[in-house]
Amino acid sequence: MRRLTPLMVCFIALASAMAQSPQKSAAQTRLRALELEAAGLRRTLLGAAQSPDGPEAASPAGALLALQEGNERFVRGLRIRSQMGALDPGAREALAKGQAPFAVIITCSDSRLADNFIFDQELGRLFTIREAGNAPDLQGLASAEYAVEHLGSRIIVVLGHESCGAVKAVQEAGPTPLPGNLWSLQAAMAGLLDSVPRGGESAGAHLSHLVEANARRQAESVLARSPLLLERCAKGSLSVVPAVYDLATGKVRFLPAVVPGHGEKTGGHS
Ligand SMILES: [Zn+2]
Repeated sequence: MRRLTPLMVCFIALASAMAQSPQKSAAQTRLRALELEAAGLRRTLLGAAQSPDGPEAASPAGALLALQEGNERFVRGLRIRSQMGALDPGAREALAKGQAPFAVIITCSDSRLADNFIFDQELGRLFTIREAGNAPDLQGLASAEYAVEHLGSRIIVVLGHESCGAVKAVQEAGPTPLPGNLWSLQAAMAGLLDSVPRGGESAGAHLSHLVEANARRQAESVLARSPLLLERCAKGSLSVVPAVYDLATGKVRFLPAVVPGHGEKTGGHS
């Protein structure tokens, strides 16, 4: 049986999208998205992974747009890039020669988060750092610096998520030290509880506010602890963006990028 090439699989997905859509305009939108992704995949298979020239590699804005578009495909059940990369041996062989991830994703270890799916990106496109509570320690910070300095990444997304168990543990413990090494989560989120008073809201609503604040504070902390990354941001060649992932909808809500020199003195490991 003849092996399916990535473009053949893309064509099948395209035909499927058109057949399943009840409305012509929706089908046309999917068609256009699939065409664009087919073009992107073609570039990858021709070796662009080693010398990226797409808009996502050219600027922080281009990188952010690529992540936003990929998340939109994920939310709508129209993943393409993350399916292709896993299926095609040719892409893996090309990537074995080098990597040029356009984005660094700092996110939680939660098993329900998989950034290649969430942003619909194939192998070699995302440089991922995962620690509970999306609170990078020194090695995590060094990993981000490596990706930016040596691999050319244009954006760092600090991705928190709703119902985060790490943030919830810190919330519920309050001033009481958590057992084992879990105390380090409290250290990494020092000041978080004071920054978001609960007031009269429910524990669940408070947790949502804490999750968002933690993503923002950890993003600020990344710049506060890394002169290298701060310099790249000041020059405009890098952007550090906090975001929150909704487990149920799959939607990523991007928050305003951290502005160098403003507010990057909070949270994070010391
Ligand atoms: Zn979590």
